[in-house]
Amino acid sequence: MDQKQLFVVGAGVVGLTTAIRALEAGYKVTVFAEIFPTDPKSIKYTSFWAGANHLSFAESGALMEVLEKDTLNEFLDLIKQDPLVPAMTRTHFGLYETLSGAQERLDHFSQFYPDFRSLDASECPAGVVGDVVAGHSWTTICIDVPRYLLYLLERFFKLGGQAFRTTIPSLSSLVSANGRPSMEVFGLNSSSGPQTPTMNPVAVINCTGLGAFSLQDVLDTDVYPTSGQTIIIRAPWVQPSIIYYFANSDISYIIPRQSGDIVLGGSWGVDDWHATSRPEIAKAIKERGVRIYPELLPPGKREKGDINDLDVIAECVGLRTSRKTGVRLETTVLEVDGKKIPVIHNYGHGGGGYQSSWGSAKHVMKLLGELD
Ligand SMILES: Cc1cc2nc3c(=O)[nH]c(=O)nc-3n(C[C@H](O)[C@H](O)[C@H](O)COP(=O)(O)OP(=O)(O)OC[C@H]3O[C@@H](n4cnc5c(N)ncnc54)[C@H](O)[C@@H]3O)c2cc1C
Repeated sequence: MDQKQLFVVGAGVVGLTTAIRALEAGYKVTVFAEIFPTDPKSIKYTSFWAGANHLSFAESGALMEVLEKDTLNEFLDLIKQDPLVPAMTRTHFGLYETLSGAQERLDHFSQFYPDFRSLDASECPAGVVGDVVAGHSWTTICIDVPRYLLYLLERFFKLGGQAFRTTIPSLSSLVSANGRPSMEVFGLNSSSGPQTPTMNPVAVINCTGLGAFSLQDVLDTDVYPTSGQTIIIRAPWVQPSIIYYFANSDISYIIPRQSGDIVLGGSWGVDDWHATSRPEIAKAIKERGVRIYPELLPPGKREKGDINDLDVIAECVGLRTSRKTGVRLETTVLEVDGKKIPVIHNYGHGGGGYQSSWGSAKHVMKLLGELD
């Protein structure tokens, strides 16, 4: 029997994870994307810019909660099975200067994370300086984003996936007889090279992130960016993942990576397409970080607390793939040249595309199964 052909559009964390699951389920998978993990960093590819750890934002009972739970379990298994996976478990601390408005979030965390623990102010992780009144901890996953994207790409090719670089104006253009957009092979998977993709996939999976805003046959105006600035700092001695809620509503977060770099954040610019780091925001992020956690500075430089002593590798900005109505995981149908082709949408994960990636891929497999 011929293998079922599947198209996945997008090679960010969501597209690659979905493509891997589909290959493992026996589909012949072709990924189409403008940008891949080996390309120079681009504002058009959100996955480059993430922290990334697992910190559930889901509302209780929402689909996102299921996706995030499935993904947490998948990462815990992956880390156990494969010591080379570029992700690690770390204790995550949420620390609060005031608890006003935090109760709902705390109730959610306490139900979500199996080893959730409430802390009192005396149980702050070593090195934290601040007016902490309460906190909590659990085991999170810290993903070394640049390495993890390469890991996904390699796993995709090892499983027999093939890929083409192209910028598509619409999903229909990939299956229309009236001329496909120009494309070139990306990576070579076998000695015979990739085969020309069929015009008749069983489905197209739309993992275009913010791209869904402008694809002609999607034009999802619910999609919008939430910009986030971060500072990448060399500080291999930093162990915990920390999020610190200031009394004035500012937030600082610290995410360690396997490489020994740490990500210091952050900012949340709703509907902000600005593509370069703003110096005043970068400065504020550094100042807040050093104030609450002087250990970001190299040994011997902590007392002075000077942000100029941070070993800064990069000042970054990325656009979270937000969507007013939350993640879109549903099936629609494209009518092209008299053919009906199912489309499964998998985008709009906002600030949680890593922590919901495996769960989203599992959900796509369920929707695919319902097509038969
Ligand atoms: C500062 C910051 C911190 C974050 N921290 C976390 C965190 O701690 N945990 C977490 O889980 N998440 C985090 N995120 C969110 C996470 O990065 C995103 O949810 C995730 O990367 C979205 O992935 P994606 O694959 O949907 O989109 P993208 O990575 O943007 O990939 C989209 C893909 O679609 C392709 N594409 C789009 N349009 C077209 C087109 N017309 N033609 C061809 N190809 C197209 C692109 O080339 C690309 O390959 C953070 C994000 C930011 C910015």
